[in-house]
Amino acid sequence: MDWRTRLIHSGSKVSREFHSLTTPTYRGSTIAFRSVAEASDGWQQSELGYTYGLYGTPTTLELAARIAELEGARHTFITPGGQAAISLIYLSFCRTGSHVLLPRNAYGPNREFADGVARRCGITVERYDPLVGAKIAELIRDNTALIWCESPGSITMEVQDVPAIVQAAHARGVPAALDNTYAAGVLFDAFSFGVDVSMQALTKYVGGHSDLLLGSVSVGTEEAYQQIGDTARQIGMGASPDDCALALRGLKTLGVRLEALERSTLKVAKWLEQRPEVDRVLHPAFPGCPGHEHWKRDFTGSASLFSILFSPRFTPEQVNDFVDALELFRIGWSWGGVTSLAMAYPGLNRVGEAYRGRIVRLNIGLEDPEDLIADLASALGR
Ligand SMILES: *Cc1c(COP(=O)(O)O)cnc(C)c1O
Repeated sequence: MDWRTRLIHSGSKVSREFHSLTTPTYRGSTIAFRSVAEASDGWQQSELGYTYGLYGTPTTLELAARIAELEGARHTFITPGGQAAISLIYLSFCRTGSHVLLPRNAYGPNREFADGVARRCGITVERYDPLVGAKIAELIRDNTALIWCESPGSITMEVQDVPAIVQAAHARGVPAALDNTYAAGVLFDAFSFGVDVSMQALTKYVGGHSDLLLGSVSVGTEEAYQQIGDTARQIGMGASPDDCALALRGLKTLGVRLEALERSTLKVAKWLEQRPEVDRVLHPAFPGCPGHEHWKRDFTGSASLFSILFSPRFTPEQVNDFVDALELFRIGWSWGGVTSLAMAYPGLNRVGEAYRGRIVRLNIGLEDPEDLIADLASALGR
């Protein structure tokens, strides 16, 4: 054969017996079948075997299986990011005319999907008070197709009574989906509380190093498995095996990272609580956090994210100046990595006007907490 053919149909015989401790990165679109009769194109690769790279390679399915194991799920789908996981859940459960309930404090892009794609498709997304608890029953309509929970909520950190919401949802045959990103799939055992679908931005704690974007959609039931799998296939939602390999690496250190992050975060948050400039510390493990009693009852720990509310004597400009004056804390979106982050939200009004211009969210990283405290002290001083 010509060398150009050899480049494609190589006769090399490298052993595949390579007992590395890591999952190899399998890339691939085409999967070669042994015969036409064997060729299939189903997405259910765990049952059928591999059919097409979009539905998974050994690397992406390994990550999916490990997230499912961690969360105690029936199955997990890997998506290109957390927001993709959110849109996949909407598209899997809703149709024109559907009604959806979404907590008022939900992750920003989730609310944008509600006002954008969902509205264009004739899906009504109604906002509800994240602390509504069992009273959510009064909001459920005959056409309610999905109830979202996010606990704690983005930025304002309200911890929801998820078991009560799930119970009310199931009484009317409505599936409950949870954005379980804060808990990294481990600090809140979603499936033991009856949640039907648990999603995570793996971008955050599982990735853990701010170098990848991935999401997961974990399901507890066979019905949700079929519905989400069919939809993922129809919209062509696949994930990069390279990113999945990074996430598999991140998973191995998730335990020690979460432990260290929790410890440092509590230390920094306690220090901030003593400061006269700070009115409230919104950290799920602190009694001043709305829904703290649900955290105490349902969670096995806390993570690296919390917010502080400055005293009303400060102007929004002064709050922004505080964030700008930080040196170790970087200003940026996303969280769950090794770098401490701060962000001010001058226009935030998702839970009324009370927090507007006064709230700053912090993500604590793996720096020495004493250095972080010194950085905060110096910025407060300025
Ligand atoms: C970051 C985040 C997402 C979205 O994740 P991406 O991977 O950035 O798309 C979803 N939910 C919550 C709560 C998040 O913080």
